[in-house]
Amino acid sequence: MKAIEVENLVKKYGDFEAVKGISFDVKQGEIFAFLGPNGAGKTTTVHVLTTLLKPTSGRAIVAGHDVVREPMEVRRKIGIVFQDPSVDRELTAYENMLIHGRIYGVENLKEKIERLLKFVELWEFKDRPVKFFSGGMQRRLEIARSLLHEPEILFLDEPTIGLDPQTRAHIWDYIRAMKEEHNMTIFLTTHYMDEAEQLADRIAIMDHGKIIAEGTAEELKKLVGNDIIYLKLQAREELRCLKADFIKGCKMLPDGRIRLDVDNAAEALPRLFELAKESGVKILEVTYHRPTLNDVFLHLTGREIRDEGGEANVARMIMKARMRR
Ligand code: ATP
Repeated sequence: MKAIEVENLVKKYGDFEAVKGISFDVKQGEIFAFLGPNGAGKTTTVHVLTTLLKPTSGRAIVAGHDVVREPMEVRRKIGIVFQDPSVDRELTAYENMLIHGRIYGVENLKEKIERLLKFVELWEFKDRPVKFFSGGMQRRLEIARSLLHEPEILFLDEPTIGLDPQTRAHIWDYIRAMKEEHNMTIFLTTHYMDEAEQLADRIAIMDHGKIIAEGTAEELKKLVGNDIIYLKLQAREELRCLKADFIKGCKMLPDGRIRLDVDNAAEALPRLFELAKESGVKILEVTYHRPTLNDVFLHLTGREIRDEGGEANVARMIMKARMRR
């Protein structure tokens, strides 16, 4: 069953078309990532899907309801973690949860707050005002809060923007756990390639308001080409022994190395070692190259998705928050 269905969605700000007729589906229980550089139209799409913005044209069905005709039904079934912090900094973590739970009329609220604050490892800090929380703790609180009313679909707009690597890895663990334990559908936007690759079952690459490619990370990388294994053998003639159907192509390089084209280097390497052992071939050196999502973006657009440093992103977030006020 489909959790999200989008058809020819267009969103204009005045004359400027930020989203230019995109179509895609997200399956139930799937982690789906929108990957693209700043300004690609990711946040705008999330705002339309979460009913905060009306589309200019096109259709979006979220959790079985039309975002324009049935916004209240959509809102009841989704959770959102925005890019800009939205918790009340003067209140404690517990109070933030309590208010949100009451707004949504959550039953067994206290039990759920305890379970969720424990889930994001904030229970021991529950009575501390949020203004004393680190960026990572705030984001964890926002995730816990977004889960209080047990949404079917969770929207995460740049969930780890500006966070340190350790905190990012932590948040990835929570996201995986939500999918695995609750079969929750998760829609996330990111401009971090590793985030899309680590988390997403499927990825849509967005640029200038359009989806330019869609698929699993593996499928997208195939757009660039095969994985490549470079070998140095004790004797180049031994190469004739290395024949197998997982080797798609083979070339001697002028520097004495051998280049093998394979579908998947991670799967091919153990088989290659086995083959070499069986046929008595001595491998002196192995390196391999797998196309990255950055290679895919470069291949499709001629540009790189820039991975800005944390501080630049925080500065951008503050500017955006001010603009939206
Ligand atoms: P980011 O990661 O920076 O949020 P994004 O991919 O989410 O990037 P959007 O925030 O959706 O991109 O912005 C898409 C385009 O629409 C950008 O060119 C942006 O400047 C423009 N835009 C966004 N909000 C508005 C607005 N309220 N009015 C006018 N233009 C806007």
